[in-house]
Amino acid sequence: MSSSLMPNYKRLPVSFAKGEGAWLWDNAGKRYLDALAGIAVCGLGHAHPVLRQNLCEQVGELLHTSNLYGVERQSQLADKLTELSGLDEVFFSNSGAEANEAALKLARLYAGKQGMKNPVVVSMSGSFHGRTLATLTATGNPAVKVGFDPLPEGFVTIAYDDMEALETLAATQNIAAVLVEPIQGEGGINIPAPDYLPKLRQFCDQHKALLILDEIQTGIARTGYWFAFQQHQGLLPDIMTLAKGLGNGVPIGACLARAEIGELMQPGTHGSTFGGNPLACRAALSVLEVVEQEQLLAQVQDLSTHFKAGFAPLSSLPQVKSIRIQGLMIGIELDKACPELVGKALDKGLLINVTAGSVVRLLPPLIITIAQADEIIDIVSALVQSVNT
Ligand SMILES: *Cc1c(COP(=O)(O)O)cnc(C)c1O
Repeated sequence: MSSSLMPNYKRLPVSFAKGEGAWLWDNAGKRYLDALAGIAVCGLGHAHPVLRQNLCEQVGELLHTSNLYGVERQSQLADKLTELSGLDEVFFSNSGAEANEAALKLARLYAGKQGMKNPVVVSMSGSFHGRTLATLTATGNPAVKVGFDPLPEGFVTIAYDDMEALETLAATQNIAAVLVEPIQGEGGINIPAPDYLPKLRQFCDQHKALLILDEIQTGIARTGYWFAFQQHQGLLPDIMTLAKGLGNGVPIGACLARAEIGELMQPGTHGSTFGGNPLACRAALSVLEVVEQEQLLAQVQDLSTHFKAGFAPLSSLPQVKSIRIQGLMIGIELDKACPELVGKALDKGLLINVTAGSVVRLLPPLIITIAQADEIIDIVSALVQSVNT
């Protein structure tokens, strides 16, 4: 690996030359099954024909004109995302962290408008919200903060899936917003109690706080719904952030809000040079179109059932603490750190991830076949069985 790159990533000793669907080939021509999809990004897999066609066409038409002008693809995408989500207005960024920055700035504007003194944004331990100064401050993992003092003020972290902790906090703090992942991704595929989101919605209504859902990992069909919150009938966040799966690898993020909140973004309050450019928006429009055409919401639910059945036998192993699956977010928690499994899987031609130390995390493309799912189940099961007890 080039020594002219900053050493902030610990990279595996492989790089890929091309991909097709859920397959990748390295420079030596070895084939791999991709059960990670670039960390929940390439939901449609690699080199999807509709994306290839539409993006090539877009490159030949127009790449960028800036937000000084109307951007037709951006308006089309905003219309589509608001229609799918029930939220009203969209700001486009280039990444997840920037989408969350926009959400946090909205929370501050909202608090200011209410005349709230010393407003705080509450986030959860085990969460991940990005690497900018504000989003790493909101991130509930002390490791990402080391060395970056002084951090911005106005952030408090409490336990995930713990309403009591939130009620306690509300007695002493002015809560402007609650920022939460419907399922924690980087934190280890942590699935809260089924009534957690509804209770958070109720809490936010009572305390006039904004409910900000970080759906950067859970959004765009990953859980078998367009957005994870949609498994709760009638529930709507005030703000939702998206990125990862939205562009299938073309960088794009989005911050969606109810109209009353989005209106706070008056000219001059916020912006981005690249945000929502024609290429990125065409990619996202294509992703949404393919998810619909290929009926991937239903397919993800079917695949999820298949993975649950396939991994069920592992739950009786002494080294397996729990198996957590929702849609195509799959976490197998072991009783000890298991970073070595990533390299072992790579040797067997499978891309997986280990997060939070001891959780084998799978985020396969939404388009995988049952045969590919079975191959993932076989290899991962063998690896988990091989872990010494
Ligand atoms: C990946 C991720 C982010 C950060 O997105 P970037 O594009 O890396 O800035 C934020 N929140 C969640 C839940 C994520 O999974």
